[in-house]
Amino acid sequence: MSFANNKKLPSVAVVTKNVSDHALVAGNPATQIGWVCACGEKLADDLSCSYCNKAYRKAKFGFTVC
Ligand SMILES: [Zn+2]
Repeated sequence: MSFANNKKLPSVAVVTKNVSDHALVAGNPATQIGWVCACGEKLADDLSCSYCNKAYRKAKFGFTVC
């Protein structure tokens, strides 16, 4: 998914359901476009937060803080 044209990017919502903790989704129907930290910052590709320096990893059942 490209962010080249931000003007057409739909409003972004953060969902905190059990099945997808920290998933960053956009659009309707929602499509996951990334992950967000507990602090609300979007995580980098390596799942680290540039704001609070938390690091995450994908676990067997979801998503956990290292
Ligand atoms: Zn953070």
